[in-house]
Amino acid sequence: MIPGSFQYYRPASVTDAVKLLADLGDDARPLAGGHSLIPMMKLRMANPEHLVDLGGIADLKGIRQAGGRIEIGAMTTQAELIASDLLGQAAPIIKETSLLIADPQVRYCGTLGGNVANGDPGNDMPAVMMALDARYHVIGAAGTREIAARSFYQGAYYTALEPGEMVTAISFAPPPAGHGCAYEKLKRKIGDYATAAAAVILTLAGGKVSHCAITLTNVSETPLLAEAAARHVIGSRLEPDVLARAVAAAEAITDPATDGRGPAVYRTKMAGIMVRRALERAAARAAA
Ligand SMILES: Cc1cc2nc3c(=O)[nH]c(=O)nc-3n(C[C@H](O)[C@H](O)[C@H](O)COP(=O)(O)OP(=O)(O)OC[C@H]3O[C@@H](n4cnc5c(N)ncnc54)[C@H](O)[C@@H]3O)c2cc1C
Repeated sequence: MIPGSFQYYRPASVTDAVKLLADLGDDARPLAGGHSLIPMMKLRMANPEHLVDLGGIADLKGIRQAGGRIEIGAMTTQAELIASDLLGQAAPIIKETSLLIADPQVRYCGTLGGNVANGDPGNDMPAVMMALDARYHVIGAAGTREIAARSFYQGAYYTALEPGEMVTAISFAPPPAGHGCAYEKLKRKIGDYATAAAAVILTLAGGKVSHCAITLTNVSETPLLAEAAARHVIGSRLEPDVLARAVAAAEAITDPATDGRGPAVYRTKMAGIMVRRALERAAARAAA
């Protein structure tokens, strides 16, 4: 319950935050919504000596459209994602997923940037951002760069971020109008991380799947892009044999932990079921 002691900083600009993170080195951590980091600190599983609170930086907030892409500031909360009409129209999977994350109080504080940067395979947004083929906008002492969500996750709590770097925004090209999407999450109760979950974004043309992305949450050390599963369904009308092959391909790439959510073999099967449900629901929502 009691975290170790730390120094607290509240920079007013991204430039100041980057300088602080560079100057303070490995013992400093950005603090966003605090709803993953503070619980870890209370258990003494994280003991940063310096917390750089990003909450005073207005530039890190907001949802905007720029150059055909949608850009979401890293400090945008999950509640703000749910309330956004722009996202509700352009990428409804974000709202659907946000409503399956945690509970209202956590969603008032927890941010998109914190959720994607955390590196916990239990977080739901990384798989959704991979399905959207999003890019993470990153800044550090060496300057800015963009990292594809699909290449960001390297292991549990191990990401492509270099020491001192922080995520400033997440951007993606909205899927075409008329696309179908679904996020199917199996969990034991509200606020639980997924036993298994699947995100699907697809488009139909003449009743056949023309584009499809399938991603998986919490069935490996990282979120997973189920490329082979998507290849099975592209060009199909999601006939039963196609669905069965896609499910098998998705199950084949899982490597879940055995924990209180059940044994690995069960979680693999649940991943398959989530993929099947997500594909069927996304297709039902898509304009034919
Ligand atoms: C009861 C409970 C239930 C939850 N259930 C779920 C759930 O079902 N699904 C789910 O996805 N999440 C769940 N969460 C986690 C919640 O969504 C977190 O808020 C989120 O994972 C982290 O976001 P944050 O803004 O709180 O980040 P913080 O806790 O502040 O930070 C998390 C980590 O990311 C780093 N970080 C934060 N922002 C940045 C940035 N901009 N750049 C670089 N690094 C950064 C921090 O240094 C820290 O290491 C739950 C949390 C609680 C307390």
